[in-house]
Amino acid sequence: MSNKLTRRAALLGLAGLAGTTGLGLMWRSSNSFASNNKTASPQASMGSAPKSGDPMTHTNVSAGLSPLIDPNAYEIELTEAQWRELLEPNAFKVLRKHATERSFTSPLNDEKRKGTFHCAGCDLPVYSSEAKFDSGTGWPSFWQSLPDAVRTKKDRSLFMVRTEVHCRRCKGHFGHIFNDGPQPTGMRHCINGLALSFKTDAA
Ligand SMILES: [Zn+2]
Repeated sequence: MSNKLTRRAALLGLAGLAGTTGLGLMWRSSNSFASNNKTASPQASMGSAPKSGDPMTHTNVSAGLSPLIDPNAYEIELTEAQWRELLEPNAFKVLRKHATERSFTSPLNDEKRKGTFHCAGCDLPVYSSEAKFDSGTGWPSFWQSLPDAVRTKKDRSLFMVRTEVHCRRCKGHFGHIFNDGPQPTGMRHCINGLALSFKTDAA
């Protein structure tokens, strides 16, 4: 167990460092694309109108500049074998294989203390206890994530279109978001407890 944790710290530490450098490069290159396009391509408004204010839409590989870093890359990217080594088997199935835990099996479903829920993969703080509510579903439920903690993707499995939610830093699968949650957001982040760890405020 402790061996596993040490190994995790080493792997995530290295990956985290690389990711930080990568993000810096990506940000710089996006900015230069944006200004470059504005001056060099007056016809940029042809076709579908680019969303203003989003530097990603200005990225233009055909202008002779190739992005140094994939803008879709995640800060922490490990191989499947590395994740398998780091995570407990059931957490691996949820975070890396999109499995869903059986409802009412996670102790975090009943967790009511003040604190923060972290990604069980990379330890990023992702949900506050202040946004947790009892949805009655048997899965830990939140009406919002912490700022810039998660990303979403359309999930078309099981003959439904659902909004899949995952970690912004390591792409670990958390669960799904539904629009039947309580105010103030009306959203319900339905999260696998196996994808989270909990730290009380006092800790
Ligand atoms: Zn993560």
